[in-house]
Amino acid sequence: MDFGRSVAARPYAVGIQAKGLPHTSPGQPPGSACDCIGRGPAACFVSPMSCPFSARHCLSYRLALQGLLNRHMSAPDEPIIDLQSDHYFMGEALRQAAKAYAAEEVPVGAVIVRDGRIIARSYNQVELLKDATAHAEMLALTQAEEAVGDWRLNDCTLYVSKEPCPMCAGAIVHVRLARVVFGASDLKAGAAGSALNLLQFPSLNHRCEITGGVREQESRSLLQRFFSEQRSRG
Ligand SMILES: [Zn+2]
Repeated sequence: MDFGRSVAARPYAVGIQAKGLPHTSPGQPPGSACDCIGRGPAACFVSPMSCPFSARHCLSYRLALQGLLNRHMSAPDEPIIDLQSDHYFMGEALRQAAKAYAAEEVPVGAVIVRDGRIIARSYNQVELLKDATAHAEMLALTQAEEAVGDWRLNDCTLYVSKEPCPMCAGAIVHVRLARVVFGASDLKAGAAGSALNLLQFPSLNHRCEITGGVREQESRSLLQRFFSEQRSRG
């Protein structure tokens, strides 16, 4: 099969190439598993429209297609797929929270993102580890430090389904995390602005950017269902 010609015949691929994204065809046959996952458009060596794996697995394809559609469709502010958005990464934190729920732990999940990639994922494991410090954020911070090879996480963003408690907020400041995005606020104990704000405490030597309320309802529903079930069990 003439891979190059099949690409040229497809309008999306032509459009993507015309926009300067290098979707070339170095000889990989259609159907090859794409090897560019997570490395951005410049790393995609499989034509997006010729590879049957690409629609589900090729990040480059999605980003390129999304950019193309955003430019040409009538609602440019409504991205069809945005793998870099707070909404997307909070979804990953919520998946972790669901794991905690399934394990009968308080359902809180967290992921840490660096350069658009998730480098740590965790969920609350206080009961499993019999450790009151095993909050999702604490476990994720340790994983991220391991991944980065440093205790400084000043180019990372934490996504956590519930507002961090004072313990976790303290740890977040200690690792100098750049940004914290949380779902449900915690009026009684939240330390990212609800009960107190340790993440931006004036006399501490580091302050984080804070975004709250991302997919708040999903996070809150999970927590409410968990505590409601706990109460009904007595
Ligand atoms: Zn905590």
